[in-house]
Amino acid sequence: MIPKKILFIIIDGVSDRPINGKTPLDSASTPNLDNFAKIGINGIMDTIAPGIRPGSDTSHLALFGYDPYECYSGRGPIEAAGAGIKLKDGDLAFRVNFGTVEGRGSVFDKIVVDRRAGRIDDTDDLVEAVRKIDLSRFGMSFIFERGSGHRGAIVFRGDNVSDKVTGTDPKEMGLKVKRSKPLDDSEEAKITAEAINYFMEEAHKILESHPKNQERELKGLLKANVLLLRGAGKVKKVQSFEERFGMKLAFITGTTLIKGIGKFIGADLIDVKGATGNKKTNLRGKFSAAVNALETHDIVLLHIKATDEFGHDGDFEGKKGFIQKIDAEVESLKVLDFSEVCLIVTADHSTPISVRDHTADPVPVMIVHEGVRVDDVDRFSELVAYKGGLCRIRGKDLLHIALDLTNRVKKFGA
Ligand code: ZN
Ligand code: ZN
Repeated sequence: MIPKKILFIIIDGVSDRPINGKTPLDSASTPNLDNFAKIGINGIMDTIAPGIRPGSDTSHLALFGYDPYECYSGRGPIEAAGAGIKLKDGDLAFRVNFGTVEGRGSVFDKIVVDRRAGRIDDTDDLVEAVRKIDLSRFGMSFIFERGSGHRGAIVFRGDNVSDKVTGTDPKEMGLKVKRSKPLDDSEEAKITAEAINYFMEEAHKILESHPKNQERELKGLLKANVLLLRGAGKVKKVQSFEERFGMKLAFITGTTLIKGIGKFIGADLIDVKGATGNKKTNLRGKFSAAVNALETHDIVLLHIKATDEFGHDGDFEGKKGFIQKIDAEVESLKVLDFSEVCLIVTADHSTPISVRDHTADPVPVMIVHEGVRVDDVDRFSELVAYKGGLCRIRGKDLLHIALDLTNRVKKFGA
């Protein structure tokens, strides 16, 4: 049996709860998605499990065959992977913001006046300067990388690093910088919190007197004079997708968090010009990059974010309109040969307009491939998908169903 390829389209948060019987997806005009529903097999899916409200990160892990309860310990490690840090088992990772503090005394006496340092965007020399801090007295080292804008990631490494510590970000303006505190009685947690607090103080001194910040002050810009750490997580390295499944995986996404998931499981990230991860994204470019990537990769994720944003904004018409824009680009997939390519279209969770956040309502899923048991479902909608032949599955099952359809599963038994 010759192995076939998989195109996995995840429309972030596309499904909803009905308002007066209607949802954005169900009421959108989506002739191209509907045509695929007609020639495919459909169902609904609990991306993690019934009643579990997924984050985009945990649900993507589940959809790619990784148990989030085993390998997910917070945003820190995912952001650090996304920032290009080569993680090791036992590392403690945080997300970092450059922020602005004002006041006198120690960094922990000062007030956070901006959590984004005026949305600073050129942090390279500040990052470089902070890297000179020495944590060897604590038996630790650290790796600091910038992300986009004011963001970054930091990893603390050493035999006595514990993740049972708090971050330093007060998460609100007008509050003091937080001291890292141990969360248990272990010596490791105590030393780690001490090391983080030492790092905070040293980083503040370096940043406060850095020429770039003096320049910023002269220009009337906010100084980037503090690092705010949050999302602590201990790294549990996972086997790469290619090692596990013997398939080359590509991610096409404009969203930093999903890029982080891609890096975490060893996917190749394919950059598309104008793929912003927001409402202005270059959909056409992403679809054509996805089709092209099927030449070089066995499985390709095309992730589209904006539907989730409209859900968070509570914007029914905006979400519906964007779904129609996606549908217009779906037409380009008609050229695919579905005896060679298995197409999956689904979501990572629901983001209902009425809730403005993720919920556990199951998402619609459809699979188009030669040989699937075509069912009676004639449109792509969370309100009718349950009638299809896939019935109700879990996120962790979907990849295995697709691997079987594409001749990539060994027989269990004789
Ligand atoms: Zn999501
Ligand atoms: Zn969301």
